Amino acid sequence: MKANNLTIYNSLSRRKELFKPIHPERVGMYVCGPTVYGDGHLGHARPAITFDILFRYLQHLGYKVRYVRNITDVGHLVNDADDGEDKIAVKARLEQLEPMEVVQHYLNRYHKAMEKLNVLPPSIEPHASGHIVEQIGYVQSILDAGYAYESEGSVYFDVPKYNADHHYGKLSGRNIDELQANTRELDGQSEKRNPADFALWKKAAPEHIMHWPSPWSEGFPGWHLECSCMGEKYLGETFDIHGGGMDLMFPHHECEIAQSVAHNGHDAVHYWMHNNMITIDGKKMGKSYGNFITLDQFFEGSHPLLTQAYSPMTIRFFILMAQYRSTLDFGNEALQAAEKAYKRMADGWRRLLDLKPSETGTVTGLDELEAKMYEAMDDDLNTPVVIGHLFDLCRIVNQVNDGTAKATAADLDKMKQLFQTFLFDILGVLPPEAAAGSANLRPYEEAVDLLLQIRAESKAKKDWATSDLIRDRMAAMGFDVKDTKDGVEWKLR
Ligand code: ZN
Repeated sequence: MKANNLTIYNSLSRRKELFKPIHPERVGMYVCGPTVYGDGHLGHARPAITFDILFRYLQHLGYKVRYVRNITDVGHLVNDADDGEDKIAVKARLEQLEPMEVVQHYLNRYHKAMEKLNVLPPSIEPHASGHIVEQIGYVQSILDAGYAYESEGSVYFDVPKYNADHHYGKLSGRNIDELQANTRELDGQSEKRNPADFALWKKAAPEHIMHWPSPWSEGFPGWHLECSCMGEKYLGETFDIHGGGMDLMFPHHECEIAQSVAHNGHDAVHYWMHNNMITIDGKKMGKSYGNFITLDQFFEGSHPLLTQAYSPMTIRFFILMAQYRSTLDFGNEALQAAEKAYKRMADGWRRLLDLKPSETGTVTGLDELEAKMYEAMDDDLNTPVVIGHLFDLCRIVNQVNDGTAKATAADLDKMKQLFQTFLFDILGVLPPEAAAGSANLRPYEEAVDLLLQIRAESKAKKDWATSDLIRDRMAAMGFDVKDTKDGVEWKLR
């Protein structure tokens, strides 16, 4: 294993800490995944990419990582309070579909968008709806511990009781008095003893279509429960990292902490990590602002706020140009700048592949550059600094290219290795031509050249069937092949 100096910002202690896993070789990480009731939007991209970088880097450091990212397909209510209808149920009723049909439809689309963004699939992707039995057991144990009560068929977490023994609000820095003062009385809250209490189990109203039997009522679990429950099931009573967007810190993660402490008598999570939020032209993203842009709309440029389409790699590169804890404002100008920067980087890589080695070299500082990139990654995943150093590398490529510097074969190999390690493997940014997961372009280019060579030979032998077949199939795959006086040129459309 490589020396590990990785520090991460622990939202619980509010400071950067040297990462020490519970087990020396294995890391368990849990990230709150999407609620699949609509198309993946920009808000989904940032946590997915942030924790993809952590997942990739931990593996690069030599850890065996079990990465759990859940699918919220039940219990996330329309108005984010404990009353109201399940978002998936509403959608299913409107479109006359089986609820799981709605879930699957949006989950497929989400996966497709994640693949385009080159986000690696997690190790386990558990569904809340597939863990109802475990969640019922979890509720029962909190009842047995005395930190919950039943009311009209629903079960609520007793926040004041818990707070008397433990600290409710330690993650978000809130205190219970202010919570009680600020919580509005909503319809149906009379079932609760205290407005700060939250639902562990909700009795389903007759029109509610997603419900399961339980000791208390025919109903469904509260939203916060699934993560406590599935985190423990797949990662154990204590595990290393829990992540998510900053908007989930309260109430979701605060409630998760209270649940697992009530359930096990101790905290489950060693490090809490939260990515900051995104804004669009300085405004929070939301349906009411008219700036709710889905990922597909970004990829296609099909939203009135977008002046053009942005490729998934431009979006990924843009997100990585900011450290995950800083805010990030999406606007056309910033995205266009990111697009140019990404293109410069890709040009640097392509130019590097064509450089010819010299007998003796004048290039220096490659090892230092590598050390600085590790240092930046170790500094709470400081991706913008890594990108800055990769641009330093591009400058060296350009110097060799225009003859102001000379590089030996070993220098060129080292430069390729730095691109491969940091840009492709760790940052997961691929060159424009590469399909997801195949950052090494050489074999791909050689395979295309080989096909074109076979086509040229068949033409020379007047074997039109073969040459036409290659031409037509390549065109269908998206290749533009042009015969020029210097030979054949090709590019991927
Ligand atoms: Zn969660």
